Amino acid sequence: MKTLPACWMRMTLACIASLASAGAAAADRWAQLAYEPVALAWSAGEVERATAGNFDDIVRRAKGQGQYGCETSCERVRRVFERLVPLARAQTPRARHLPWTLTVVRTPGVEALALPGGQVVISEAFIHEHKMPDTQLAFVLAHEMAHSILEHERQTLHFARMLLRQDVPRSVADMYVEMGYNFALLSSLEPVMQQGEFEADELGLLLASAAGYAPRDQIGFMARQAVMDKTPRALVHTHPPARERLAQLRARLPLAQRLYAAHKAQRR
Ligand SMILES: [Zn+2]
Repeated sequence: MKTLPACWMRMTLACIASLASAGAAAADRWAQLAYEPVALAWSAGEVERATAGNFDDIVRRAKGQGQYGCETSCERVRRVFERLVPLARAQTPRARHLPWTLTVVRTPGVEALALPGGQVVISEAFIHEHKMPDTQLAFVLAHEMAHSILEHERQTLHFARMLLRQDVPRSVADMYVEMGYNFALLSSLEPVMQQGEFEADELGLLLASAAGYAPRDQIGFMARQAVMDKTPRALVHTHPPARERLAQLRARLPLAQRLYAAHKAQRR
């Protein structure tokens, strides 16, 4: 995701895949694969409220350009998203109560993103450009949902707060102002943001696998990105190189495959 606050990070290893009970868990309930971060600055609600305007901006811009809503992939995108939502809700107490929504736009430059409040946005142009089958669409959506589940935005803000003077009270809005002009701060956050991407990849792959999407097919999207190897020129690299993300995804394939098998066994 490219839009600033939406696709940001986290700080500890919240994304712990406990598969010991995955088979049994999938049999009678959705598998829990993630845990909530703890001891962060500001509440989840404060971060959700501070970022809600970003979603409104995306919608307003899309409507203003006549590019709001889907045209050709509506049913398919809705179906994939609805298969992922129960898995997302099962991950943490907070995720259970998020009002998960999916918004499709056709705005150039928008790919996919998720806000802390559970609003997921994807561009139909992005889906068409990459000719995404359902498996890859599921991975992309689940990756974005993982950012919301793991509270990466809140964790980024917390890390940023730790790097500033502690004797000055700051609101979430203050932090966005600070990050808007403090390049040194943003640059220092690069490893945190990249870690968030690795974690969203991992949890996204596992969620989509548990929802019944073949793991090896899911990572086809990242495999193509790795071949193209188009690391964008940027002052701050919020995302790791695609080849590194692909390597991590491949390392998680055995676990993802077991979740996928558990899903299929459950449906027999
Ligand atoms: Zn991301």
